[in-house]
This record gives sequence, structure tokens and C-alpha cells, in this order.
Amino acid sequence: MRVALVTVGDEILSGDTVNTNAAWLGERLSERGVSVERVVVVPDRVADVAREVNEALAEYDAVLVTGGLGPTHDDLTMEGVAAAVGVPVEEHPEAVAWVEEYSDYEHADLVPGTTHLPRGARLLPNEAGVAPGAEIEGVYVLPGVPEEMKAMFDHVADEFSGEPRHRRIVDADEPESALLDRIDGLRERFDVTVGSYPGDHVSVTIQGPDEDEVEDAAAWLRERVDAVEQ
Ligand code: ATP
Ligand code: MG
Repeated sequence: MRVALVTVGDEILSGDTVNTNAAWLGERLSERGVSVERVVVVPDRVADVAREVNEALAEYDAVLVTGGLGPTHDDLTMEGVAAAVGVPVEEHPEAVAWVEEYSDYEHADLVPGTTHLPRGARLLPNEAGVAPGAEIEGVYVLPGVPEEMKAMFDHVADEFSGEPRHRRIVDADEPESALLDRIDGLRERFDVTVGSYPGDHVSVTIQGPDEDEVEDAAAWLRERVDAVEQ
């Protein structure tokens, strides 16, 4: 399964908020074997949300959108998603019923629009907040508030699956450029994907669907690099 993440918010683009939602979702999805192939940040603007969601839908099996839910003037995500799938946004009776039954609010006390979702969407209740999420045509719309987003994702997590991937990391005390010959050697010999991440030392990440193959590849590399002093 291949997915894209669309994170909505002017405050992410300006750097005021760090995009921890994308990092958290990326980790959760990857560990389920789902391949996250795009992370996009868009402003709080209907046309931008609609365009990115529309493009992502054409390419990926599912799209996860976070941020910009609720009734305030800058909460335009539902409208953008609705536009992307060609339906209007309207009062969602199940969302109203959920708020009445399970939240601390009466529906009448909420700002109008709080329970508006794209027509035909499945309600994703917000157990850690109020503004509901939604799923429509494989587009999952989740809150921006990290704790609300996590609770909602956990509810639908089982809808995301893929081939489990195994991972080993080999740390090398050599410049990244010096390692290229052995990384090439690794690719030639083993059916794995290889990433190298420089820092104080270079972490070479080896991944693949077959655990033994990944282990063998890691052992092969470990024997051929300068080990990091512990
Ligand atoms: P609310 O219903 O409270 O309006 P929301 O779903 O509309 O929430 P936003 O208004 O977009 O979400 O953001 C709410 C809070 O969550 C803000 O403090 C924002 O900084 C934070 N937030 C939004 N998106 C992200 C993100 N991608 N990563 C981390 N924090 C985020
Ligand atoms: Mg908001």
C-alpha cells in the first residue's frame, strides 16, 4: 500500500509549528509496512488542499490529511477535500448524534459548521476533542492537534497495511563518500534497499521484506566497515 500525507496549516509553512504529525504518521505507517511516498504541506486555502488531495488520490492508495478541522475561519480542510472528490460539505447527522452523546457539548452550543463533513463521508469521531474527522474515497481527514490526530489514527490504523519490512542499521566511522563502494557491493549481492544517513558517524540502514536477507546483508557490511567506538 502506497500513501501520501497532506498536512494543512500556515503555521507549519512559516515554521511556527514543527510538522510532528507527518513524522509520527510516517513512523506508524512505515512500521505497518505501508510505503509513505509523499509528504506535502499546504496553506489553509481550499484550492491548495483540493489540488494536492486530488493529485495524491490519482497516484496513491490512500491519502491522510491533517489539520484545519473545525468551524473557525481558517479551518478549510473539509471544503478542500470535498472539492477534491466532487461533493458538497453539509451537516452530518451521525456527527451531530456523536457530539450529543459522547462529547461534553450540546450540538446547539457548538459553532455552526463544526459537524459539517463532505457528503457521503464516514464519520471518524474525535475522542480527544470535538471537531470530527472523516473518511471519503480513501481520503482520511484527521485533526491537527497531535493528541487528537493520534487517537483518531489509532482507530483506523488497521485499514493501513503492507508487506512488513525488516530493518538493520550498521554504524560506520568513515566518511560517507568512502563507503560508496561497499554500499554498491551490498546492493549487488542482496535484495535490500540501502539508505545512508551522515551525522557524527554514518548510519547505513538496510531494509527488505526478508529478515534473513536483511540480517545477512548487515553482517556482510559490518565486516567491511570501520566500527564506531562505543
Ligand atoms: P481545532 O479543531 O482545534 O481547530 P484543527 O484540527 O483545526 O484543530 P489546526 O487548527 O490546524 O487543527 O491546528 C491545531 C493545533 O495543532 C495548532 O496548535 C497546531 O500548531 C497543531 N498542529 C497542526 N498541524 C500540525 C502538524 N502537522 N504537526 C504538529 N502540530 C500540528
Ligand atoms: Mg483549527
